[in-house]
Amino acid sequence: MNFSTVISKSLRTDILVIGSGSAGATAAIAASNGKYKVTLVERYGFPGGTSTQMLDTFYGFFTPSESPRKIVGGIPDKVVNELDRSGNIFLRPNTYGAGTGVNYNPEKLKQVWDQLLIKSGIQLLYHSTLVGVESTGEASTCIFFNKGMGFFSITANRVIDASGDADYCHWADIPYERAGEKESAQSMTTTFRMANVEQQEYELAGGKKMLKERMAEAFEKGTYGLPRKEGSAHEMCQPKCISTVAVKVVDLDPLDVEGITKAEIEGRRQAFIFEDFFRAEIPGYKNSKIIGLSHQIGVRETRRVFGEYRLTKEDCIGAKTFEDQIFLCGAPIEDHRKSDEGESETFWQYVPNGGAYGVPYGTIVPKESQNTWVVGRCFSATHDAHASCRSMAQTMSMGQAAGLAAIISMDTDQNAKNIDINKLQDGLIQIGAILQMPEKVADASRHGWKNN
Ligand SMILES: Cc1cc2nc3c(=O)[nH]c(=O)nc-3n(C[C@H](O)[C@H](O)[C@H](O)COP(=O)(O)OP(=O)(O)OC[C@H]3O[C@@H](n4cnc5c(N)ncnc54)[C@H](O)[C@@H]3O)c2cc1C
Repeated sequence: MNFSTVISKSLRTDILVIGSGSAGATAAIAASNGKYKVTLVERYGFPGGTSTQMLDTFYGFFTPSESPRKIVGGIPDKVVNELDRSGNIFLRPNTYGAGTGVNYNPEKLKQVWDQLLIKSGIQLLYHSTLVGVESTGEASTCIFFNKGMGFFSITANRVIDASGDADYCHWADIPYERAGEKESAQSMTTTFRMANVEQQEYELAGGKKMLKERMAEAFEKGTYGLPRKEGSAHEMCQPKCISTVAVKVVDLDPLDVEGITKAEIEGRRQAFIFEDFFRAEIPGYKNSKIIGLSHQIGVRETRRVFGEYRLTKEDCIGAKTFEDQIFLCGAPIEDHRKSDEGESETFWQYVPNGGAYGVPYGTIVPKESQNTWVVGRCFSATHDAHASCRSMAQTMSMGQAAGLAAIISMDTDQNAKNIDINKLQDGLIQIGAILQMPEKVADASRHGWKNN
């Protein structure tokens, strides 16, 4: 596409990161060692992506086990430490045994990301959406749209695609697979938050177990028109508030304008059905109301780029390790999709014995890439492996590896795929990343974060 006649401004940078979600924000911080100009561009007016748009729990820091290990470190730790300093985290077990999560206040997290990004000296551009790639090669020229300025371009020596939807790869003709092409794509979820919940009353009436039973019962009876029989609700950092992952929207394409429009409307419709159900049927919720819906419907997968390596289910379930691994993952395969009977449910498969697998560098390097990395939920994996390795501690880990890799690639004038892996692994270890399973059993108790 030729944008030359409509460009209002042209910028230059060394390392361009597209999307400021968990993966992109971490990548930008990792890439900013003062030597190169780093630019981070985000379509919304705040950082964090899914972490602040709709969620409140980081999974993937701890292996799911009776003797959990903390397997992620480095910049992700810095983020949690900042939240902890202001009393904005607690640890909690996952509803389905996927390991301990770090619960945080998502509004505070926006500010924490802002501060960490500014302190790193990054050029931060909000409200700007990547809409095209004009040229690639030694450098790439990307076209962004900002409502006030119209179209502007950024030319970069290195690009990290952290858009979640692999938008850069799409416009730059880098091959990818679309979710839903082979297996059913994972469903979408509008999360919602309810205030004025009497947590003690809820726990005394049976807590999660009771919720599960009553939801299944209401679903069978069809009283509220509940869209599904499963769903989780958990306490938040904010007192008397709960957050839910209950809505499920299937069979709509989030990359199609009509599909995503219908999905947003359906997500909101379902959320208020759940509100009626919670208020009437669940002890502790009688006087509660929805106080917030997610900023947008949560999209679990869209494009998965073909990388130098493609992570598979066998790698995950076989707890495989790799010479060039850049982080660890112990999360189960958590596949939210339609069952053969047409119901929208979640299917689980665990890494045996609370173990973890290694994730190789090739999963964040698009095939034959010269100057590009792809991190976060569009990295190179099959549908099943993606369903395990997409938790936020892992997407942050991908980001920190890509940020350091971009520096090494600039320093040594090497293509993304040819950089010295030992140098990258040394750099990762230096900033606190964990590349081998630790011996030490982690403290996963409610206030145990500081002890790890
Ligand atoms: C409903 C739901 C529940 C989940 N629950 C959990 C959970 O409890 N815990 C957990 O650890 N993980 C959970 N996950 C998975 C996890 O949240 C995501 O896989 C992870 O956050 C993805 O991070 P990311 O940085 O790749 O993408 P995102 O967080 O989606 O970030 C992408 C960023 O890029 C921006 N962007 C997109 N396109 C453009 C563009 N063209 N130009 C500029 N900017 C752009 C977006 O606005 C966004 O900020 C859940 C996911 C969903 C959808």
